[in-house]
Amino acid sequence: MASGPQGIYLVDQHAAHERILFEKLARDFREGTFSVQYLLVPQTLIVTEPELAIWRTNKDLWSKFGLELEEFGDDTLVLRTIPEVLPPGDAIDLVRELLDQEEASFVLKERLHQLQSAVACHAAIKAGQTITSTEAVALLTELAQCEHPYNCPHGRPTLVCFTRRELEKRFLRRLS
Ligand SMILES: [Zn+2]
Repeated sequence: MASGPQGIYLVDQHAAHERILFEKLARDFREGTFSVQYLLVPQTLIVTEPELAIWRTNKDLWSKFGLELEEFGDDTLVLRTIPEVLPPGDAIDLVRELLDQEEASFVLKERLHQLQSAVACHAAIKAGQTITSTEAVALLTELAQCEHPYNCPHGRPTLVCFTRRELEKRFLRRLS
């Protein structure tokens, strides 16, 4: 929760962080300053034929984005590197989610958007997670610097504003 000259704001910390990370990932990707981390222990996934097809269509894009997988046998993928922002414990869930698409879009821009928002979602702080007031201030400052601060990459609002006028009406301090 935050207050400003217009009233009070309720902020969805997950959606807000997701927006910040999404724009940072997009910028790093454009500028080629994307950081990658190597998994100390590569992780394996058993995949189906359609999932393998999704991966084959996307593998060049994914690897530019730090998500490097290799085929191993007929039904296994080995995950070796992931984007730096991603907690390693979330990596397999992210890949599973990406492989779960109906089919890969032919439009590169859509695939890139989907990839960036999925990475941002898995790397962002969770909804119920406790953050310090310093972290909250930093989050709001970074959100304010975003190009599209009011929505997360999936289109959900990052904050809701209750104006002073609206609050006064709710508390029956004002009749109209
Ligand atoms: Zn999310």
